[in-house]
Parts: sequence; structure tokens; C-alpha cells
Amino acid sequence: MTFAIHGLPVARGIAIGRAVLMGGRVDVAHYFIDPMQVDAEIARLREGRDAVVDEIHRLQQTIAGMGPKEAPHELTALLDVHLMLLQDQELVAGVKHWITERFYNAEWALTTQLELLSRQFDEMEDEYLRERKSDLEQVAERILRYMKGVGSPVVQPGARRGPGPRQQDLQLEGTTDVPLVLIAHDLSPADMLQFKQSVFAGFVTDVGGKTSHTAIVARSMDIPAVVGARSASHLVRQDDWVIIDGDAGVMIVDPSPIILAEYGFKQRQAELERGRLARLRHTPAVTLDGEKIDLLANIEMPEDAAGALAAGAVGVGLFRSEFLFMGRQGKLPDEEEQYQAYKRAVEGMQGLPVTIRTIDVGADKPLDDTRRDEAHLNPALGLRAIRWSLAEPSMFLTQLRAILRAAVHGKVNMMIPMLAHASEIRQTLSLIDYARAELDNRGVAYGPVAVGAMIEIPAAALILPTFLKYFDFLSIGTNDLIQYTLAIDRADESVAHLYDPCHPAVLRLVADTIAAARAQGKPVSVCGEMAGDVAYTRLLLGLGLRSFSMHPAQVLAVKQEVLRADTARLAPWARDVLAAEDPADLLAE
Ligand code: PEP
Ligand code: MG
Repeated sequence: MTFAIHGLPVARGIAIGRAVLMGGRVDVAHYFIDPMQVDAEIARLREGRDAVVDEIHRLQQTIAGMGPKEAPHELTALLDVHLMLLQDQELVAGVKHWITERFYNAEWALTTQLELLSRQFDEMEDEYLRERKSDLEQVAERILRYMKGVGSPVVQPGARRGPGPRQQDLQLEGTTDVPLVLIAHDLSPADMLQFKQSVFAGFVTDVGGKTSHTAIVARSMDIPAVVGARSASHLVRQDDWVIIDGDAGVMIVDPSPIILAEYGFKQRQAELERGRLARLRHTPAVTLDGEKIDLLANIEMPEDAAGALAAGAVGVGLFRSEFLFMGRQGKLPDEEEQYQAYKRAVEGMQGLPVTIRTIDVGADKPLDDTRRDEAHLNPALGLRAIRWSLAEPSMFLTQLRAILRAAVHGKVNMMIPMLAHASEIRQTLSLIDYARAELDNRGVAYGPVAVGAMIEIPAAALILPTFLKYFDFLSIGTNDLIQYTLAIDRADESVAHLYDPCHPAVLRLVADTIAAARAQGKPVSVCGEMAGDVAYTRLLLGLGLRSFSMHPAQVLAVKQEVLRADTARLAPWARDVLAAEDPADLLAE
């Protein structure tokens, strides 16, 4: 039966594929194996199953020596049922299918098949049979427990969250003919990162706001995605056909042939549009009245530099360095590892500038999933970003030295997130000086860097002279600026309707920041999601913005807007928008 689930659109386009449900059992690793490893993976599963069968046999022998009081008949019968389930063809063949056809790792294959069978049990009329579901779950749990102690021959489960090696493991494009879409209750930014170059054609999550970091990474993958779809992971079944409409923020489950045909058509139209935009790649971003606009890229990993160049970005305006630190079970990258990563990004940009933002963890970007901040009521208002860096000076100095060293290889800017106090600014700048002095003492080469601040707390936007006194450039982080101005958790879908980039208070802070920086001749850009949303390009141009940093996938669409814009005419209109009670009405005209 066809039905639709509504959520929030985060990444444009249409994806049609079979659902891969993930996240029911958080302790189970999900990764794709190399096709060469199929036999080894099946053997690993068999080992787990055989171990459980042996265990049950041993139990049966122990019970055989007991009297009916210690070992009631029900227990014997239960063990028989468990043994029977372990030999069940539907379970065994099903698990093999997921491994050989989809290249799921054994644990993932087992839980997938378990879910399918559980649903079949749920639908059974016979109460006795229906109750066998919990037996099935128990035997699967036992196998999983055994397998936990048996290392994977392909990828150690511990490595699955790390962004480095996992990316190669997931490059299995073409190993399965069926397009797959990922449905999960929630995915951490680190989880998303590991799927960055994976086979998935689209994503849907139950939770998350439009500018949650999970959504941001989904967008950077340039595949259709919907977040905040509430109960999607409960309503969709493993392997259902689904359509993800990333423009409308809708998922259609089990589509009828007519709906499929309609979306197939939309998909082809979107492809054509992409093709048209691709022709703008080498066109300079200059407005009709001759204003040159810098369109920069936001990246998460050094390897993203290639995509930024391919999209025609003229530099990196935001390298979210924290993604190098995530999913490492507390073992943070040392100076050399960071230096190599920053150097790769700088060299990858082939002489174009790279703005490295110092680590911004906390709130919806935990270092790893086991370290989610549940101890504090409001982690978004807590020890995140620069506050965390200043609280961990040795970690921060390590990063600062690595960034300074990378500046030997090209134009590097350093950018500090979440500053609000003059004291934080001074402390940060003296740590940068200290990092330079440490490198001097060690006789290690480093290059010049421009140091900039993000304006993402209203307090910062209200003391711009202080920021402009200390920094070489400013970059407006609208994602957080909106969150903190409107007191809306950017990751909470239940208040997503109030998360409004067009709120007059937000626009006022953005406009003032642009104007103040320009008045002092200092560069200013926007690197929040607003910069990549074509709905705001004309407004930001009208407010005087000349530098936009966004996901590479959005560069060409924004460039198209720039090419059609006349900033001289947009400026008075932008003033009207700023003065309006409901700016969105004017924007829509
Ligand atoms: C922002 O807040 O707008 C920003 C660019 O930083 P992040 O999204 O990483 O918090
Ligand atoms: Mg931010």
C-alpha cells in the first residue's frame, strides 16, 4: 500500500530505491564488505551460529542429568525450539542473501533478516507461533554476542565510525544493481561521514532539523535527503521500495506504478537541470553590474577539496576540522596527522585559499557516539567549539601548530568558532602567538595565516567593533546565529517550523555584520547554510555580501543567481526587506 511520510527537505533531488533500515540495534556494526570477502563473512556467521548450537547442546546435556524440579519440561522444549530456529532455512538463507547480494557485514545481515522474520511473526494468527518471535530474537542476540568476540576479517567493527579507512571500504559503487536508500532513526555526523562515498542514493532520518550537522553532511553528499521524518524508521520495512523527494521533504513508501513513473520523470528533469548548470562551471561569478562574487566551498575532509574544485569553487571558506577528530574513541589526531590532513586540503585546492575552522565539537557534534553530552541539560549552550578548545589548551595548541605549519603549502586562513567575549578573543590570539613561539623553538617552519572569527552568537554581532579590532576577517555562521537568536535548537525537528533565517532580528544581525566589516574594508562572508540556499542569494547580495561559502553541490545554482543579479537594484530592495515585519513575503515576490 502506498503512503507518504513528511519530514524536512535537506538535500535536493529524487532518489528511488530499496530501503536499508539501520539503527534498531545500535551496538551492531553496519558496513559493506568487499565482494571478495563474502565467503569469509558467511564463515564468520557460521562460526557464531555453531558456537550457539554447541552451547545449547551443552545445556541440554546438563539438563538431562537434572530432575524435573530443577529442569522443568518447558526449559527442554525451549532449547529445542532454539535449536530448530538456528537451523531455520528462512533465517539462514535470508542472512546469506544479504551478505552475497548486498554485501552487508554478517551482523547487519543477521539483524536485517531478523527484522523481516519478526514482522512475519507479528502477522501470525496463532498466538503460540507469534510468541516464537522472542525466541528468534534471543538466538539472534546469542549469535551476535558470540560474533562480537570474533573479529571481522574485513573491517574491525571499532573502525567503522572512523572517517578514514571506512570511506574506502564503502566505495563499492556498482557492486549491487539495486539503488539503496538509508532509513535510520538518527545518524550522528560521524555516521554520515562514513557513508559519504557509499552506495546509498538517499537518506531519511526520523529526527534532526534542517541545519543539524547530520543534515549538513547529508547535503554535502549531494544526494536527496529528508530529516525529521518522525516515525519513518518504524513505518518502513526492510527492502521496501521508497521514493525520497528531497525537494519537498517527503518519502513515498511502496509507490504505485503511476507514482513511480511521475517521479522517474522528475528525476530525469533534475538530471537535465544539473547538466545545464554544469555548463556554468568555468563562468566567473560576476553580477550584471560587474560585481565579482567569491563562491567558496564548505568541506568536512581534505578529500572534499577535489569536489570543491570540480564545482568551480574559488577556495574553501569553511573546513570543518572537527570531522578529523570524530569517531576515534577518544584518540585525537596528533600534530603530524593534523598537519598532513590540512596540507592535503591546501594542496588539493591547488593554490586557492583554504579557511580552516578550529575544532567545533559539542552539542549535536559529539566527538564520538559514546561521548554524547547527556550530562548537561543544554549542550548547545555548553562547552562547545572555542569554549572547549580554551578548556583543553594542549589539544588546541596542537591544532594551532598543525594549521600554522600547513600554511607553508599555500594560502591558509584560520577561523575561530563561537566567540562571544573579548577575553576569549584575547586568550585565543595569545595561544596562536604561543603556538608560533613553540614552532620557533623547535625550528619548525610555518606560514602566515589571516585569523578570522565566526559571528554566530548574537552577542558577537552586537560587539562588532571589538571583533573587527582583533580579526582580519569575519564569517557569519548563520546556522548557529539563527539558533541562538531565536532560541531554537537547530537539531530539534519539533521546533523546526520556527527556525527562520528570515526573521527580522536575524536579518538585522547579518546586515549589521556585513556593513560593519565592509566599512572597515575587512573581508566578510556567510558560511552557514543560508549562503548555499538560492532563496537568499539576492537578499545577501543586496545587503552587500560578496563572499558566500557553501557545500560544493550548491555552488553552481548560487552562481546562476549571481549571474542574473544586479546588486545596484537589489540594495534598496534589501533595505525594504530588512524593514519589513514579515520579510519572507517580500522575498517570495
Ligand atoms: C554555522 O553555525 O553557521 C556554521 C557554519 O557552523 P556549523 O554549522 O558547523 O556550526
Ligand atoms: Mg556554527
